[in-house]
Amino acid sequence: MALRDLDASVYDHLTTGEWTHRDKSMEEWDRWALLGADVVREHPDFPDPLTVELDTSKGCVRYVNKGCSFCIEPMYGKPKFREVSGILAEVRRLAELGAVNFRLGGQADFFSYQAIGLGSSATPRINGPAIRALLEGIRAAAPDLKILHTDNGDPAMMIAHPEEAMAAMRDLVRLGTPGNLLSFGLESADPAVTEANNLNIDAEGCLEAVRMVNEVGRARGANGMPTLLPGLNFVAGLDGETKKTFELNLAFLRRLLTEDLWIRRINIRQVRPVRREFEPTGLYREFRQFKEAVRTAVDHEMLSRVVPEGTVLRDVFLEMEDGRVTYGRQIGTYPILVGLPYQTTKDRFVDVRVVSHGQRSLTAVEYPLDVNRAPLAALSALPGIGMKRAARIVRARPFDSRAAFAASLDDPAVADRVVPFLGLAM
Ligand code: SF4
Repeated sequence: MALRDLDASVYDHLTTGEWTHRDKSMEEWDRWALLGADVVREHPDFPDPLTVELDTSKGCVRYVNKGCSFCIEPMYGKPKFREVSGILAEVRRLAELGAVNFRLGGQADFFSYQAIGLGSSATPRINGPAIRALLEGIRAAAPDLKILHTDNGDPAMMIAHPEEAMAAMRDLVRLGTPGNLLSFGLESADPAVTEANNLNIDAEGCLEAVRMVNEVGRARGANGMPTLLPGLNFVAGLDGETKKTFELNLAFLRRLLTEDLWIRRINIRQVRPVRREFEPTGLYREFRQFKEAVRTAVDHEMLSRVVPEGTVLRDVFLEMEDGRVTYGRQIGTYPILVGLPYQTTKDRFVDVRVVSHGQRSLTAVEYPLDVNRAPLAALSALPGIGMKRAARIVRARPFDSRAAFAASLDDPAVADRVVPFLGLAM
């Protein structure tokens, strides 16, 4: 087992016959990334929908205070950041080969890249020029890119340096692509848990950071999704957790709805004992109830605000079929699952229009929908239509005008709602 970097262990084994446990050097990191770029051509999803993750860093700026109790990132010690030039050389090669979808992956925090004053505090200064140079450089190195997304964001860095964080997010909105996400590790809204586990942010701070992303990133981009929104992670089973913790977590999420703050996804998991063991809390029932309450009381409502009925989502890749439903997703970070309520050809990109919402997925139909050919199931999924009206439409088609289509329905209000979904040139 490699105790430090796997690639360094493999390299040493292949070159010297020894299995070693060490970190790769920065020079090795850049060289190997560049040399390994060509492997993308072998991937079955190349060039699209394949997404290439770019390494930018390792470790967490909170190593100075040992970081969050459950996380191994601080164990790497002082964070290491690849130079912009090394990352861009890799991107240039990937783009030359034909890669079009990129993600700054595995980043403990988008805002910490090349942070100034590492080690002086758990929230060193945000290096705006370095972040901008990286994003601008990627756009220049891959001028035909379709996706440029990110991974995590540290709300504590944002709260400590609000102006720099807003500027970095404006750059991300300008230079990244829509549907982007910064995942926040709130982990718990309970101050007792925050304290006991040395977590990086409390509920109030996280709320403020959510407001900041909403201010910058809510506008809808060309693919139909808000440009940049936060995601939220909760971890259960941490020290200090009680029944009240789950109440506070739920109250926090309800506050988001009350303030109409948008988030893109809520990730809830049990703590994994990778850094150390955690005493069992015995609160599994409460955990399950919390998860269920989030799915029913928050997720559905949030999804219908972030992607309302009628939203056109571009470039949804249809990838699987389950029963009579065809599922697809946009390419990018944590894409929302889209179900078309009928069977259709997979492995292709389509535009869709949203008709309704599940807890964590959308129901949509291809857009524009050819009402003269659409399957019955697609028609019946349209808002206000249902099976009976769909059957009537099928019997009455083909239509050659909006008036003819509307006349086939018994309610003009329903026709008004449905016509925007259709592809009739009327
Ligand atoms: S959870 Fe995030 S902020 Fe906390 S130590 Fe790990 S990487 Fe750092």
